[in-house]
Amino acid sequence: MLTYTLCALAVIGASVFYLFFYRGWRREKRLQKPFPEYWQEKLQAQVPVYSKLPSELRHQLEQHVQLFLAEKSFYGCDGFEVDDTVRLTIAGHACLLIVARNFSDFDDVSSILVYPDAYHVREVESDGIVVSESNQIRAGEASSRGQVVLAWAECEEGAVNPAGHHNVILHEFAHQLDYLDGTADGAPPLSGEQARHWQQTMTRAYEHLRQSLRHHQKPWLDPYGATEPAEFFAVLTEAFFQQPGHLQEEQPEVFEALRGFYRFDPINLLSHPNDPDKHAAPPR
Ligand SMILES: [Zn+2]
Repeated sequence: MLTYTLCALAVIGASVFYLFFYRGWRREKRLQKPFPEYWQEKLQAQVPVYSKLPSELRHQLEQHVQLFLAEKSFYGCDGFEVDDTVRLTIAGHACLLIVARNFSDFDDVSSILVYPDAYHVREVESDGIVVSESNQIRAGEASSRGQVVLAWAECEEGAVNPAGHHNVILHEFAHQLDYLDGTADGAPPLSGEQARHWQQTMTRAYEHLRQSLRHHQKPWLDPYGATEPAEFFAVLTEAFFQQPGHLQEEQPEVFEALRGFYRFDPINLLSHPNDPDKHAAPPR
């Protein structure tokens, strides 16, 4: 009887450790390893904002990248070869979103599929009676099942143009943050007054964008953000990190709401002197 009780306690203890402490313990072990100099060089070359971050945040980004590379699986599609440049470019930009947040925000992300270029997808839709098929070209997509798909050519374009309008890596990983509360509704997990303020501010800004488009006005923000609230959040995230000064000038309340969520002020840290013209990108 005593042996049985001891065994049962050991099993319960091991289960509790695994459920509540194992992940944290493994992460601590992983972070004890030094961040390779070769990775720092890759981040300097591929993630331009890395060098601009103050040392504390740069160190935090490195830690997130270290965990990201250890825990997430990368797969090349259509013959694409995933090398260290690809891994560090994607990890560096994705982790920039959570540089002032906790790495656990990406716990549900398990795999990243990388195509060499924008890829074709056959979309089948059914309203219960009519089934329709369409061919779409995509630069990336995110799923609530923990998968992110990216076109490398688009990732590279975002990487070499850090003050541009588009960055597909920031865009797709913003969707992953949106999924954190279980729904892709353009509202990441927030509570209390912050959630109420977010709801009011973003609803107003989203309607304003849609109205501008209905009146054939050319908005500064990517019109793709008007397709649904989830895309609005992803497009705003691109603007927040890549053109923070412009976003703050155009929509100060939206900027403040994003600053509150990301716990990060990119104005002084990441603003760029140039603000190049908008360019077209395939649908995401
Ligand atoms: Zn999107």
